[in-house]
Amino acid sequence: MYNKQFKYPDTKAFEFVTTTLKQKGVDLRELAKDAYDLQKEFIPALTVDECYAALVDVLHKRELLNNAMVALELDRLAEAGEIREPLLSIIRNDAGVFGVDEALALQISNIYGTIGATNFGYLDRVKSGIIKQYDTDEQHVNTFIDDLLGAIVAAVCGKIAHHYA
Ligand code: MG
Repeated sequence: MYNKQFKYPDTKAFEFVTTTLKQKGVDLRELAKDAYDLQKEFIPALTVDECYAALVDVLHKRELLNNAMVALELDRLAEAGEIREPLLSIIRNDAGVFGVDEALALQISNIYGTIGATNFGYLDRVKSGIIKQYDTDEQHVNTFIDDLLGAIVAAVCGKIAHHYA
């Protein structure tokens, strides 16, 4: 199956991720606002627009897009029942000892170094803002998306912090 010639355009990955986030009801402005709320105490001059611009920027990173596609697709497949057991039940029930959802997300926040990683850890514990509504939804499989959103917000925080450093 290995094909040295194969290439995929980042724009396709970007469309996959942004379209799926939209279908799941994620408002990118809200994510930018979550990042703003986390960073404003350190950067008083910061604006939500700046956070939104940083968000659009991180959403174009290939390392982020790769993990985001896998995360979003696993939630979708689990919701559709298209994964074999025991993995299906593990993902559907968001089993606490699974940890692959956090691992995929942590890799995204790590792109932005320690600030990205520590903000992700913080968001994983407090589940603030938009992340909370996905963490507590009992109708849909959101095992991967909540961590993904936390990682995206953390990445935005990291990018902004590095910019102002
Ligand atoms: Mg999770």
